[in-house]
Order: sequence, then structure tokens, then C-alpha cells
Amino acid sequence: MKRHAKSLVAVPLAVMAALAIAPPSGARAEEAPAYRDPKRPLGERVEDLLGRLTLDEKIGLVHGDSLFTAVGVPRLGVPPRVLSDGPHGVREELGPFFRPLGRGDDYASWLPVGVALAATWNPQLAEAYGRTLGLESLARGKSILLGPAVNIHRTPLCGRNFEYFGEDPFLAARMAVPWIKGLQAQGVAACVKHFALNNQEVQRNSIDVQLDERTLREIYLPAFEAAVKEGGVLTVMGAYNKVRGQHACHNEYLLNQVLKREWGFQGLVMSDWNGTHDTREAALHGLDLEMGTARPFEQYFLAAPFKELLEKGELPLSLLDDKVRRNLRVLLATQGLESRPAGALNAKAHQETARKVAEEAIVLLKNEGSLLPFDPARVKSIAVIGENATRKQAWGGGSSGIKALYEVTPLEGILRRAGGAATVTHAAGYRTRKADNDADAAQAAALVEQAVAAARQVDVAIVVGGLNHDRGQDAEGGDRASLELPGGQSALISRVVEANPRTVVVLVSGGPVDMKAWLERTPAVVQAWYGGMEGGNALAAVLFGDVNPSGRLPTSFPRALADSPAHALGAYPGKDGQEPYEEGLLVGYRWFDAKSIEPMFPFGHGLSYTSFEYSALRVRAPKPAHVEEAGALAVVEVDVANTGSRSGAEVVQLYVGDERSSLPRPPKELKAFRKITLAPGEKQPVAIPLGPEVFAFYEPAKKAWLAEAGDFTILVGCSSRDIRARGAFRLAKTRIVAR
Ligand code: BGC
Repeated sequence: MKRHAKSLVAVPLAVMAALAIAPPSGARAEEAPAYRDPKRPLGERVEDLLGRLTLDEKIGLVHGDSLFTAVGVPRLGVPPRVLSDGPHGVREELGPFFRPLGRGDDYASWLPVGVALAATWNPQLAEAYGRTLGLESLARGKSILLGPAVNIHRTPLCGRNFEYFGEDPFLAARMAVPWIKGLQAQGVAACVKHFALNNQEVQRNSIDVQLDERTLREIYLPAFEAAVKEGGVLTVMGAYNKVRGQHACHNEYLLNQVLKREWGFQGLVMSDWNGTHDTREAALHGLDLEMGTARPFEQYFLAAPFKELLEKGELPLSLLDDKVRRNLRVLLATQGLESRPAGALNAKAHQETARKVAEEAIVLLKNEGSLLPFDPARVKSIAVIGENATRKQAWGGGSSGIKALYEVTPLEGILRRAGGAATVTHAAGYRTRKADNDADAAQAAALVEQAVAAARQVDVAIVVGGLNHDRGQDAEGGDRASLELPGGQSALISRVVEANPRTVVVLVSGGPVDMKAWLERTPAVVQAWYGGMEGGNALAAVLFGDVNPSGRLPTSFPRALADSPAHALGAYPGKDGQEPYEEGLLVGYRWFDAKSIEPMFPFGHGLSYTSFEYSALRVRAPKPAHVEEAGALAVVEVDVANTGSRSGAEVVQLYVGDERSSLPRPPKELKAFRKITLAPGEKQPVAIPLGPEVFAFYEPAKKAWLAEAGDFTILVGCSSRDIRARGAFRLAKTRIVAR
């Protein structure tokens, strides 16, 4: 680790600084043009700069000139934009076609993946996450970081679910906003992606998503809308797929109508890499920056072909100017023309944030007979079993992979925590590499026997399995084929549990796996996600009770694939390139509730080593401060008490159901949550103001959010299926709700 600690920032910073402070040739200080004056309003600086540009310079600004750069205006001392993936750290330096440059100065902090962050249900951690990425981006000379990724989990199979914030639009929005603010406060632009409906990786470049307007507005857009309106996100990345017949990267409706006109987005829309397909559409339908890897950059749709159409007068110059303005706005808002703050790479504080997120992300799915936490006085021998106990995961998964400064694996974490006091052994147990001949098959069988023998001799066995970032698992560019655990893990786990009933199964994955074969007989199951560089330490801290688990599922875990909506209806993965979203609004728990299907583990689920009691729910008239702050119509108050013997955090979840409405609505929807920490015996009142948006649905006929007069049920609990207190609210008057 040490050997990478030096000269981490030297090259990029020096380059950036040189580019940034070079004054335009011949300029004298007293003649400093308006665009160079950071004290002037941004709009004025942008107009001043725009007025000085040649046609070629303008064209240069609207397409990339390398994999992750887009020029500025060298003649005027305006630096280039330097982009980076995103979203779990600052990606390593790459050459053409994503070829790693193999440098020694681009090791970075690897934070737990997006779904793990969402599982914390802690917006403050999302802010710290964004801030960490901002500081590392600065130190690496980046001005735009490609994240957060907020597509909704529509199918548990999607190969990029691990990057996303789960199945619920409200939760995703609540995590995205502070993430963006934390990053952008450092002077680095966020890029919320992939706008919109990139909900599967199978046929991602061509699949044509067909969905009704309400579903679009209520399920798939809210996280993006909040990113724009509340987060002030500076850039948006279009998605690869088509939406209603037109590619998302130049989709008139999504980009011009919704994003720019309705939501008032002033920043720039960039394409996903090679996601642009047509010059006229790109020019006319709201794309501002074309990025990619393929072909010479001068031949990009928004390069020479665009210029030609402008010169022939087939497209108006005002189109180009609008795009340039947006690019300049982002450029001046982030890059600055003077020096930028130094930022920090691989700071201790970043590793602490990584650890905190990983700890709060871990979800205790099951804990029968209180097998967990382990009592170090009684657990003297441990068999750690499984490929994922030793497998490093940072690098994998596609564009979100990180060249981590270090990565503590689960086995290392357990050894550090328990190694002195207990004997810890490791057996691989399974291999995910396919057995392709008899020798391999015999070896696989031997691995199982070794693991079973190891499990038999110890106080506790810990199987660390799940998925990994190999193709066809949690990886970009493809979806999983089924929920099945790879490498024969189901059979292995069954055998280990039989050999030692004191077995904990730890799942490293971006989403649910099939647990049917072994769940019932397995006393404890832990969902650990991909926990970032400190993941192994965080896991050990939870297993040994140094940390009381407080993660909650941000996505439903179905019993079987056919129980989840897109699969039950046979809508996934589409037919003849078309994918009608037949389940409409009934995504995730909305579906399980509406169809009365029992999930294996419901949305919002997660156990603790202590217990919480909810009491005295009351729905009150709001206090004036609440009305002022959130336009509150009511305040829900509930008392939450820690009735166990350990300190712990509870996620108080508030769902609202509409008793009667003119259009059908899901039985209930998440509308608020609070994460609170309580000492043993402590009781706290939790107050949640409810604004009119909490009662509203999108009424396509009115093109507006409508809160209809009538009765609503207020459900408060610790998961979507564990409701602990109920109340009622009557809305007196129907109203249109502004967003
Ligand atoms: C991904 C984006 C990523 C881009 C650049 C694309 O394949 O979809 O999320 O930011 O590549 O690496």
C-alpha cells in the first residue's frame, strides 16, 4: 500500500494548473475580460465567452476529444473538461478504448457500491460519499464525475443493479440529492445517469421501452427530477436504450420537453459512450455533449457532420449556441479559470467514510436463536468458507470498477477481528469458474468435502458466497440468467449447514439470489453487498457485534423470479426489440403488495441485535415551522423505543395508502423515513411532517400531480411488511401539487 502513497496527484494537477492559469496571449491584467472574472454572475461570464468563440471552437465544445476529455478553449485559456467514472470512486487512468495506462498514481478510495449506500437509508452518509468523491476528483484533476447512477431496479436480474439505489423512487431520490450536493460543493460536477429507463443490460443499446406516462413520472423519473430540482446537478447522462421509439440520448420528449423545459435544467446533457446515433436528432433533441470511444472524434455526430448542417443553413446556429452555453456554464462553475483546490486522494477520512457506509449498509436478513453476534469468549474456532471470502471485487463490474488503494476481504476482516482469540481456517468450498471436464468436476466435489470437514470441526462456520463481477453476474453489459447462485453454492451451503448448524451465510451481491434450498435450515443470513475497500472490516464488526446492523433492503428479495413483476408478466426482456412495461406502477413492493405475494425478504427489511417498539402514533395539525418549511398539512408523530440491551439504529419508515382515488394506485408507497440511534431503554418521539406531495399521484389527463380529497392510511414500521403503527388522514380539498 505504502508504495503508492507518493506522487499521487502530481501529474494531473500540474497539467490542469498549467492549462488553467495561462492567460490568453497578449492580455493585460487590467483588461481582464468578463468571463475571467469569478466575481461576475455566471450568466454574464458565459455570454461574454460565447461571444468570443469561432464556429470551430464552439463545435469543439460539444463533443469529446478523447475517451474522458472534452476540450475547452485553449486560445482563451479555458481548460478542458476532464471526466471520470464514477460512481464508486475515481476510476483509473485509461487510454483509447478503455485500455488501462498502468500508472502508479491512480489508486483511489473504493466506496461501497450504490445499492449498498441505499441500504444505509442514511442521507448524511450519501453526502459524505459525494464529498469524498469530490475531493478525490479534485486531486486527480477531474471536473466531472460520472455518477450517481439512479436507475430503478425493475428486474432483480439487471447486471447493473449493484450500482443503483434500489427499487423505490423516493428512496433513490433521497440518496441522490445529498450525494450530488456533497460532490458539487467541492467544485466538481456530478452526472446523474442513465436518463432514463436503462433498467436492463440485455439489448441495452437498442431495446425500445414502452411505458405509460404515469409510470414514467411516478417510478422512473423522480430520482432524476430531484437530482435536477433539489440537487442542482450540473450534468445528466442519456441512456443507451430507446424510449418510445427514440434513443434516450436524443429523445425530444425526455431531454427537451421534460428535463429542460419542465424541470428548468440549465446544465449539459452528455451522451452515454457511443450512445449517439444521428446528427439531426442529437442537434435538435437536446444533446449537448457527445462522448464515446469509437471512430475519429472529428467525425462524431456533433462534430464535422453537425458543422456541415449548420454551414448549409439546415440547422440554426442558435441550436449550437444553446449547447455551448450549457457546456460553458458547467465549465466555469467547476473548472474555474484560476487554480482549483488541491482536494485529497486516499485520505484516512475517506477510508473511514468507506467503512461507515459499509457498516451501515449490511443487512441482517435472518438471525434465529441469536447466533449473531458472535461472543468472542465462546467462539474459539471459525471456518470461513467460500470464494468470496478472499475474492477482491473492486476492479470488476464494468465502468464502475475502481483500482482500489487496498481492499480488505471478508477473510482478512475476520482474521483481524478474531485472529488472536480464535483459530480461523479458510476453505474455498466452491469455484465460480465453470467445470469443463471430469478433473474439474472431481475438484469441485473435493472442495465441497473439504469445506464440510472444516465446518464440522469448528464452533461456527461462515459461508461467504453470493455473486461477483464476472460477466453474466453483477456486471455491466449483460443481465443474470436466473437468481441461481453460481458455482454450486446452494448444494454447498446445504451440506455445510447440515455439518454445522451454527452456520452464518454472508451474501456478497448487488441483489437477491435464490435461497430456497437452504434458507429454512440456515440460522443466520447477512447481506453484505460489495462493501468497498473496508468491506471486510465492516463485516467482521457486524458479525462480532462491534457494530449493530442497521441496513435495510432498498429492493425486494423475491422467493422466486416468477414472483417479481416484469417476470410474472413475461414482459422482460422484451420481444422484437420492444419492451412494454406491462407491470406499470407495480414495481417492487408495490407489486408484491397489490398481488398479495409474500416476498422472501421485503423491501425495507433488516434486523438488529436490539429490538424496537413503536407506540402512540398520532396525526397532528402541523406546527407553523413545518408549514413554512415543507408546506406541511399534517405531522405524524410516533414514539420509538429501544427495548433491547444494545444501542442501535432504527429506520422508521412511513408509507401512505390512498383509500379511494379516481385512478388506481399501489396499496402503499414510501413517503418518508428517519434513521435514529437509540441507547438501550431510550425512547424518542419521531416527528414527520407530511406535505401535499405525499398524497399526490400523477394525473396524465391534467399533466400534473394531483392530491385528491379523501382518506389516507398512514403506516409506520420497520419494513414494508412489518407495520407497527397506523393512523389516518383526511385531505379536505383536492389540489394540484407543484413539484
Ligand atoms: C456506461 C456509463 C459510463 C461510460 C463511461 C458506459 O458504458 O454506461 O455508465 O459512465 O460507459 O465509461
